[in-house]
Amino acid sequence: MKILVTGGAGFLGSHLCDRLIERGDSVVCVDNFFTGQRRNIAHLLDHPRFQLIEHDIIEPLTLDVDQIYNLACPASPIHYQHNPIRTVKANTVGMINMLGLAKRTGARILQASTSEVYGDPDIHPQTEAYVGHVNCLGPRACYDEGKRIAETLCMDYHRHNKVDIRIVRIFNTYGPRMHPQDGRVVSNFIMQALNNEDITLYGDGSQTRSFCYVDDLIAAIIAMMDQTKTVGPINIGNPDEMTIKELAEKIIEITGSKSTIVFRNLPADDPKQRQPDITLAKQALNWQPTTNLQEGLKNTIDYFRKNKQNSLV
Ligand code: NAD
Ligand code: UDP
Repeated sequence: MKILVTGGAGFLGSHLCDRLIERGDSVVCVDNFFTGQRRNIAHLLDHPRFQLIEHDIIEPLTLDVDQIYNLACPASPIHYQHNPIRTVKANTVGMINMLGLAKRTGARILQASTSEVYGDPDIHPQTEAYVGHVNCLGPRACYDEGKRIAETLCMDYHRHNKVDIRIVRIFNTYGPRMHPQDGRVVSNFIMQALNNEDITLYGDGSQTRSFCYVDDLIAAIIAMMDQTKTVGPINIGNPDEMTIKELAEKIIEITGSKSTIVFRNLPADDPKQRQPDITLAKQALNWQPTTNLQEGLKNTIDYFRKNKQNSLV
């Protein structure tokens, strides 16, 4: 198949391109390099079945493809809040462009949505039926509400134009190729630990997240794209929930760092708890995560350590 991956030079997108190339597909990677890194896909550039197009999905795109994975959107709070209007545009104008492409070519399109559509949730764990608790006025709204309207657009193109859609709601995912300066908690803590700098815990560290290793996530989104039972939305993540303080302690332990934990203000609208209910993913995709946190963190720490030695981070 010929498969378009938007955001293909990013953290998740580059791993997805790898898996698709490995199984024999032709991949067109579209990226504007806002948060993507060339070195994430450098090893693919000479591959005969890989094509890179430097392009912003906010502008129209004409291509013939069989499937579209739409991942193009900055994902870390500091990056999506850097230019919130562009974040909204990627999720509205960009989403419409990609759905229009799917409609014209008949391609199936998978939208990378997020657990942020649940906002600061008041039911726990979060099931797909929960409609969410999002502050539409806050600093996270460009992303949270952006991803919500992107889901709305997918459903409307599906109902009115018969576009073959898939929606995955991705929960916090980590692994090699995360951007070292994207401010997300796993990359921040690992960089701080490797540099023996203070580990910056926002709030009192009692807020929770559930972290999924990238390989597990990629397996699930490919399974979601390739099945015909459900269009979603479907939660994809690892239900292994922990406090952010526990995560900090784990990273200090694995790295053997001399870092100490310091407390900083909690950002506005920071969700207090988050854990995916993955019953649907287990049933519909016959999938569940298999990489535990210890193993996943070790791989991620090795990646950052190697890049640090080579002065790449
Ligand atoms: P990332 O920032 O590493 O990747 C996003 C990629 O999209 C980058 O390569 C960036 O340059 C590109 N991009 C951004 N705006 C674009 C535009 N307008 N046109 C073309 N390219 C553009 O982030 P990621 O973690 O790999 O996330 C990928 C997708 O998955 C995002 O849509 C994100 O919202 C979603 N997601 C990720 C997580 C996670 O934990 N990693 C969780 C939930 C949802
Ligand atoms: N966080 C933290 N220190 C950091 C970065 C993040 O304590 O240096 C916290 C943040 O406040 C949030 C959690 O870690 O409660 C996860 O943050 P991240 O930005 O990775 O993801 P999101 O909030 O979007 O789930």
